[in-house]
Order: sequence, then structure tokens, then C-alpha cells
Amino acid sequence: MANIETKCVQGGYTPGNGEPRQIPIIQSTTFKYDTGTDMGKLFDLEASGYFYSRLQNPTCDTVAAKICQLEGGTAAMLTSSGQAASFFAIFNIAQAGDHVVSSSSIYGGTFNLFNVTMRKMGIEFTFISPDCSDEELENAFRPNTKAVFGETVANPALTVLDIERFAKAAHAHGCPLIIDNTFATPVNCRPFEWGADIVTHSTTKYMDGHGSAVGGCIVDSGKFDWTKYADKFPGLCTPDESYHGITYTERFGIEGAYITKATAQLMRDLGSTQSPQSAFILNLGLESLHLRMKQHCKNAQAVAEYLSEHEKISWVKYCGLKGDKDYALAQKYMPNGSCGVVSFGVKGGKAAAEKFMEALTIAAIETHVADARSCCLHPASTTHRQLSDEELVACGVTPDLIRLSCGIEGTEDLIADIAQALEKI
Ligand SMILES: *Cc1c(COP(=O)(O)O)cnc(C)c1O
Repeated sequence: MANIETKCVQGGYTPGNGEPRQIPIIQSTTFKYDTGTDMGKLFDLEASGYFYSRLQNPTCDTVAAKICQLEGGTAAMLTSSGQAASFFAIFNIAQAGDHVVSSSSIYGGTFNLFNVTMRKMGIEFTFISPDCSDEELENAFRPNTKAVFGETVANPALTVLDIERFAKAAHAHGCPLIIDNTFATPVNCRPFEWGADIVTHSTTKYMDGHGSAVGGCIVDSGKFDWTKYADKFPGLCTPDESYHGITYTERFGIEGAYITKATAQLMRDLGSTQSPQSAFILNLGLESLHLRMKQHCKNAQAVAEYLSEHEKISWVKYCGLKGDKDYALAQKYMPNGSCGVVSFGVKGGKAAAEKFMEALTIAAIETHVADARSCCLHPASTTHRQLSDEELVACGVTPDLIRLSCGIEGTEDLIADIAQALEKI
């Protein structure tokens, strides 16, 4: 299965003779065993199998396997949300007293998770601009830095991360690069091909694509050699007393250690698992991801070009525009298109932005992006309202920014709708 299209449709599941063509929803919390010894082996991770859906469920694993193939990884797990994926991805290798370097241009929810909640847990974060100098990047690292984090295309700032550059810097300091690939999706960018080590997703967005199921995913490239930096990653390279003294890297190799630990420890203790029903819905979305991404990108490109020439628009941010500061990076990492989200400012500030949004008939005002249906949002007064002005600027959100997520409707209809809404302001 070489092509991304085939992986979207058929990845992760090959039914045997007489088995269901569509993936079965195993809506069961628990699994039956003949003897206590059989089950004991599962608890000790000596045999693989299912015992309780808080940790693992066959439907979720089938869908995780598809996303794993799409990203080109060695192991993957679903989580209850994108937030849970971001949290697990870091907390699996960092604890109180540790430090993480993160791009400042990230999703507002992730910024809050890092800057407030995970700080309370004793993990320090240094935020740096994706456009920072080599010196700034170098200076962000400390001896206790455990990971570097960034988004392929940042939500909502739409900056593009130079994945290769950040991967090199991370590796020079013995750290994995974790990439949130939600906006690009593996259809448009596969961060592992550029040196990233772990990929996370909010599957709530394009992967589901129908605004139906909240979910997340973590994929391991299997390439980061934790054992080379065993002192840095004791959780992976020394015995886990809560799991009968298993050393994850010894038992599961560098290809399997990270996801096994996240499942056996974090999922066991924190239980942020995805429901089998949601995983099934997610899989329906994945089956058409490659087709939808094309139309999302086509619409966004047309809308961005239209807006950039409109007199009532003060600025447009879309990395597919030739004049965009991230155009070259986008061409390098996402030559077939980036995502369907366009940010722009309407002349007349907040009041004009609100009037414009209310006048739209196709795009609805929603706290959502990456849906088959177009939607729009004013982040400064909604998703990002908890941030100070300085923090807003740091994550690339100006007060006049409108985020328009172009759906997969007809291009002409979308532009006509925007045109009539702009006439009303
Ligand atoms: C939405 C989003 C998240 C959080 O995902 P949820 O599924 O809403 O928890 C994380 N990262 C990015 C880039 C997102 O767009």
C-alpha cells in the first residue's frame, strides 16, 4: 500500500474471509479470558491482547494503525481529544523539574495547557517564535530540556514551521521533535520525512472532517533512539516499577517503547481514551481525507487570492499566497497545498469583523475549523480571550484577525458569499 489515497481508504484493516468489510465497533469495556494466568500475562505486558477499554480497544487500535500508516510511523494510539494527545506526548517524556522548548505560534488551547496547567505540574516551557534566529533557538535549550514542540501550520496564526531546522536543533540537544500535524494532515505533509520524531493530531479537525467526533492521536516515528540519552529519559530506559520492572526500550525496542509506555502508564492512570464509536466515525472521515483536503485547499487558495485584492481587507495570511512570508516553507513542506484555513483582517477592526461574519450565509460562526462546512471565528474575542495582548501577539493573533475555515462547498459560492458580506460593512 504505497499511495496515501489507498492508505486513507484501506489502511489499518484487512478483513479475513467472511469478516465485516467495515471496521467492527467493539463497544465493550472488557474482554473475557479462560484463566487468571492468561489475563495476568496481559497485565505484565508479556502477551498482547485486550483487557480493559480504558487502556486499549480493538476499534481504536485499528484506526490508530491507519493513521500510523498515513504518517509513516511505527506505533500509534488514539486519545480522547487533541488536547489529550498534546499532553500525553509531552508528559510521556517530561516530568516536574523538566523543560520543553515550544514554538510560540501554536493553538491557544495547547499554549494554555503548556503555559498554565503543565507549569503547575512543574514542567517549564520556553516559547520561541518559529522565525527565531539560530542563536535564539540554540539559547532556548537547557540541560533538562526533554522535547521540542511545534505545529506544521499553526492554528490560527498559519505560520509554517521549518521542521528540518527545528529537528536538527532538537537532535543536537538529544531531544525529540514533536509536531502537531493537525492542519496539514499526512495527506499534505508527513513530518517524519523531515526529521520529526513524534506526531500529534487533533483528529477532531480534518481527519474526522464532519464535525462529529472529538478525538486525538499520537504517532511515533520509531526513529528517536531514547537509549542514546538514557539519563534524559529514565521513564523509557529504566525499569517501570508500576509495571513489574519492565524497561520499555528493552522490551519493545525504540520503535515501540514510547507508545507502549503512553498506553501502559498514562492511559492506565489518566484514562483519556477515545470511545470505539468515535473511532469508527473518525475512520469514516479518514476514508475521504485525501479527497476533501484537495477541495479545502482549492477553496482556501481562491478565497485568499480574492481577499488579498479586496479594498476592505487590510491583510491576508495564507501560506499559499506568493507574497506570504511562509510561501517558500510551504512550497518545501506542502507542495500540494497546506490547509483550508485563511486568516485575514477586515478594515474597521473588531466591529467591522463582527458585521462581516454575521452577514455570511455559508460560513457559520463556530468554535471549530477544518470541517466540511465552512466556518469562521474571531479568536481574540472567543478561543483566545483568556490571553493577554502580549500573549496574543506572541501566538500570532491580532485583535482584528478573522479565521475562515474554508469547507468543501463550491468555490464560486464561497467567494460570492464573502463578496456580499464585505459589501455590508
Ligand atoms: C483543535 C486543535 C487542538 C486541540 O484539539 P481538540 O481535539 O479540540 O482537543 C490541538 N492542536 C491544534 C492544531 C488544533 O487545531
